Amino acid sequence: MGHTDVVPVSPDGWQRDPFGAELVDGIVWGRGAIDMLNLTATMAVATRRLRTSGFRPRGTLIYLAVADEEAGGEYGAQYLVERQMDAVKCDYVVTESGGVPIPTPSGPKLRLSVGEKGVNWRRLIVHGTPGHGSRPFRTDNALVTAALVVQRLAEYRPKARILDTWRRYVEELELDRDLTAALIDPDRVWETAFGLDDLALAREAHACTHTTFSPNVAHGGTKVNVIPDRIEIEVDIRALPGIGADELHAMLTEALGDVADRVTIETPPNRRPPGSMSSFDTPLVDALSRVAGRLMPGSRIVPSFTTGGTDARFFRFAGVPSYGFGLHSRRIPHTEYPKMFHGHDERVDTESLRLSTLLWQELCSDFLA
Ligand SMILES: [Zn+2]
Repeated sequence: MGHTDVVPVSPDGWQRDPFGAELVDGIVWGRGAIDMLNLTATMAVATRRLRTSGFRPRGTLIYLAVADEEAGGEYGAQYLVERQMDAVKCDYVVTESGGVPIPTPSGPKLRLSVGEKGVNWRRLIVHGTPGHGSRPFRTDNALVTAALVVQRLAEYRPKARILDTWRRYVEELELDRDLTAALIDPDRVWETAFGLDDLALAREAHACTHTTFSPNVAHGGTKVNVIPDRIEIEVDIRALPGIGADELHAMLTEALGDVADRVTIETPPNRRPPGSMSSFDTPLVDALSRVAGRLMPGSRIVPSFTTGGTDARFFRFAGVPSYGFGLHSRRIPHTEYPKMFHGHDERVDTESLRLSTLLWQELCSDFLA
């Protein structure tokens, strides 16, 4: 399964035309190059090659390309799973993302995404009492309360939780022994991430061990001489797999503290899915490991989960083990990838496209022959 839609661009930040699909020195530039037209396209090429070669799968191989993933998947994967399940029913799903080699002393490690956090957006309505802006003393100004709300959300520290997937992933990175131990210790991971010079690892460690709260949009106020009675704050909350809606609500209330009773919490429709997780120990993962190991000798697959949402969750909710993978070359360093997802200068090298195409072909030959 691939998605066909992409996110918007800010063209000024790009070195090349984001919709020019320029091929320069073995690199394809453009929005969607790694999220995820690289996979959607290589899956299509592999499927066609299998078809024209006369390959007969054991069972049914479905190639699925859907829209709307970047807007939540309601009209794409979610629609199909909930309304057309007979058409997409399967035993396993492979979609984005993973398979970018991370160098370690014992060889490249390839992330296989086995799960993701819940995309739980909330709108907080902060209430106040309107009044004349010329007499602010002892008034109930919703904007002043909202400032407190934002500050408390930003400083909130829910308890860390170490998932087995995170522990396995960190151990496979083969970092310094003390650092590894600290990153998988719920009592030390926050302080350790806070002190890390490697900001990318710090953010990853924090997001993979905590439910996060990011206040990202605020609307409110009507006129400069009117004390506002209503401010809306939109909060991007990402719950760790295993955290339910009730627990999330309790965290939010705890974060707000004594201003909680001046805030109404609204849940936008379709924005309450919990996190999801598939087993790392399935025959499909074994097959992916075998095939990736052949295409990139010395590499090893390691389980991980994504902090962003993907269409895989709809299949996981329906009981179908779903994974994010692909196979990339070492030409573009793995540290570049987090910047390219939804960022400027998204690009992919043609060797990675070749490897991903072979990966899908050989996976089918291995698993479905
Ligand atoms: Zn994507």
